Amino acid sequence: MQRGWRVLVTGGAGFVGSHLCERLLADGCEVLCLDNLKTSGGENIDHLRSAPEFTFVRHDITQPVFVEGPLDCILHFASPASPRDYLRHPIHTLKVGGLGTYHALGLAKAKQATFLLASTSEVYGDPEVNPQPEHYWGHVNPVGPRSVYDEAKRYAEAITLAYHRAHGLRVRIARVFNTYGPRMRVDDGRVLPNFMSQALRGEPLTIYGTGLQTRSLCYVTDLVEGILRLARFGAPEPLIINLGNPDEVTVGALAREVLEVTGSSSGIVYRPLPEDDPRVRRPDIRRARRILGWTPAVPRREGLRSVVPYFRKALQEAECVRSRVEA
Ligand code: UDP
Repeated sequence: MQRGWRVLVTGGAGFVGSHLCERLLADGCEVLCLDNLKTSGGENIDHLRSAPEFTFVRHDITQPVFVEGPLDCILHFASPASPRDYLRHPIHTLKVGGLGTYHALGLAKAKQATFLLASTSEVYGDPEVNPQPEHYWGHVNPVGPRSVYDEAKRYAEAITLAYHRAHGLRVRIARVFNTYGPRMRVDDGRVLPNFMSQALRGEPLTIYGTGLQTRSLCYVTDLVEGILRLARFGAPEPLIINLGNPDEVTVGALAREVLEVTGSSSGIVYRPLPEDDPRVRRPDIRRARRILGWTPAVPRREGLRSVVPYFRKALQEAECVRSRVEA
């Protein structure tokens, strides 16, 4: 990012948000990190709190927001993002995608700041084309359990474009595909934290459905690089870009890879497939390659190997907390 930029990151204490804050500080930006700490405890940013260019503001973006001074860019990442979290907080998820995005856009307009929306591959729903290019409109069930997230993000995209058309705001939309790395919550219910925790605890890995459904996993540092390239891209036109790793894998094969990188002898159990679980997911990243010169650098095996120590430590800490509570 440009040195000296003043950047607001909503959801800045979350998994991806905290990596963004860290990278922005390293790039010489001033960072305002805004978060309501609903799905994170704040520990993701503990190591940043003493940096003079870092400010944490505890605020729920579903409420109007005021910020003193100029802002060059808003990275709008606030939202529950794992299926377990958004099913647990369905109304809040809709509010943050709707009202939260509205408030963040209002702030961007007041400050004439570039606005980058963290959207999602979920806007494609259970896709009928694979891989998914940005011009695909998607196949979303508007009343299914996942709709609270999918439709909130589709609305967020619509209002983001409306602010561009009505007010000339400089906007970017990143459609973020499955991302993993350190600072994921071990209990967030997503496939990788589940498999890693189960493998490291010696419990069976839970495959939902047949395990033939696919996902494509992007390492978090690759995603952060793509987000920042998109945010600083100079053109005034809106840009909508898929960011993800196109290396597609079945959930069954991922389970085997996790067993391998953890050296675990856990078995596998099969559980029912959640409703509307997408059968395939793989980003078409030709646009990101062409416009941003971006391509993921971390192969999945390497990323999986490097994230094992994080999950091992996080599980030990969770275990310590549990035994202290029980004592
Ligand atoms: N999944 C699984 N076992 C788990 C958790 C998830 O088989 O313990 C499957 C889930 O049904 C989906 C895929 O893994 O097909 C990815 O799920 P995740 O919750 O990570 O996010 P999604 O990509 O569906 O948003």
